[in-house]
Amino acid sequence: MAVQKSTIKIGWNLDNSYSRLPKLFFTNTNPTPVCSPKLVILNYPLAASLGLDAHTLQSNDGIAVLSGNKIPEEAFPIAQAYAGHQFGYFTILGDGRAILLGEQITPSGERFDIQLKGSGRTPYSRRGDGRAALGPMLREYIISEAMHALGIATTRSLAVVTTGEKIIRETDQPGAILTRVASSHLRVGTFEYVAEKGTDEDIRTLADYTLQRHFPDFDSDDNPYIFLLKEVIKRQAVLIAKWQLVGFIHGVMNTDNMAISGETIDYGPCAFMDTYNLKTVFSSIDTYGRYAYGNQPDIAAWNLARFAETLLPLLHSDQERAIQLAQDAVEDFFKLYNFQWLKGMRAKLGLFNQEAQDEALIEDLLSIMEKYRADYTNTFRALTFDRLEDMTLFNTTEFANWYEQWRARLEKQQETKASSHQLMRSANPALIPRNHRVEEALEAAVKQGDYSVMEGLIDALSNPYAHSPEQAHYSTPPVESSQPYRTFCGT
Ligand code: AMP
Ligand code: MG
Repeated sequence: MAVQKSTIKIGWNLDNSYSRLPKLFFTNTNPTPVCSPKLVILNYPLAASLGLDAHTLQSNDGIAVLSGNKIPEEAFPIAQAYAGHQFGYFTILGDGRAILLGEQITPSGERFDIQLKGSGRTPYSRRGDGRAALGPMLREYIISEAMHALGIATTRSLAVVTTGEKIIRETDQPGAILTRVASSHLRVGTFEYVAEKGTDEDIRTLADYTLQRHFPDFDSDDNPYIFLLKEVIKRQAVLIAKWQLVGFIHGVMNTDNMAISGETIDYGPCAFMDTYNLKTVFSSIDTYGRYAYGNQPDIAAWNLARFAETLLPLLHSDQERAIQLAQDAVEDFFKLYNFQWLKGMRAKLGLFNQEAQDEALIEDLLSIMEKYRADYTNTFRALTFDRLEDMTLFNTTEFANWYEQWRARLEKQQETKASSHQLMRSANPALIPRNHRVEEALEAAVKQGDYSVMEGLIDALSNPYAHSPEQAHYSTPPVESSQPYRTFCGT
């Protein structure tokens, strides 16, 4: 289908390196135009860092691009092919409702995928309509930007436009398109797709492309593919540790939703934990708790094993040897993860140096939190400011004993109390995107067309370590309800 070109100067500087890969990897596909696009939110700082003119992006031509009604002149829209293990089962997937316009080269020379999500059917749509609903797209915007502000690697959200079209879900929903920005959309599932459908040479091509794009400084003396595997594992260890440290639950850690770049990707039924509990699950489709909070590190390792399998032909010519190399690398995930997690937990407790008993000290606190159903974020915030009042936990003997041990441990290090406090401030967010606050913002936006609640929330979340008085409103946990919070995939 022909699509109109946008020639107005917005600052596009697009390359399309992915489209130079073998045809197997993607299909040329244009976005499907929508009837009446309206811009509802635009990320000014992100636009600026991409070299895009936010003012022009709000013009008719700019909105036409953000809605898929026009494409930038140099764009070469494609839908990417991928596969994935969904809840443990292998499936062929692909961008069923997303189009990659190209890779924006920023003024500082970085490369970012610009993807329209919800932009119409593609050859990979299966039975889906290729569209997205407004609520879930705004949700992705809020949470991905909150993750970024928390210092967690993530895809970003540039804009959301409503399409003026209704889409059919359980109830009719307003349609919307999110412009997603990612350092790439290479997924574990991309490798699985090529391993399934292509040759060993295709896998090598994909691995070489990935190395060049994400890990350009590998040592040419070593086997670059072992390097690739180890680096991807390292990045995931850092990422998942950060998730655990802020209480983020992805919700659908299928292999197609794990990015090779180490960014958090595909915000569906994700949510942040209020009350500390390893079994926390929000997703309505995760009946068995496969992707529960406490399982995320194990699942990451499982996904990385699927990634490693796709690289086997490149790791060693002797298959046994290749398998051994892959297994060793995947096993290292836990060591790397534990190291990152402990490092982060020490910072949350104001500890600079390492001591053998630290892990026990941390685990003790977590188990008291679990027992007394303490709010995860607010417990650490209260410890940071030594404001130990309004939580049941703080009035228990268990906590009093723990507190004494913790103070004694702090006394043993050389750093001052003030520097400990500073460390804790920078490691313990004042606020997270609480589920009830996110829902409130989405309800006002979707039902009343009032975006002010969402804007206030996004603003408060943009500097989570500020600990400013205005943030207090957003940090109260929800009133405990008899109904557990449920999130939906929101396709
Ligand atoms: P997700 O659950 O968003 O990670 O998507 C899993 C797969 O389903 C991907 O291949 C998506 O492109 C596809 N998909 C999700 N929603 C739709 C939709 N409305 N139309 C077509 N494909 C979809
Ligand atoms: Mg996905």
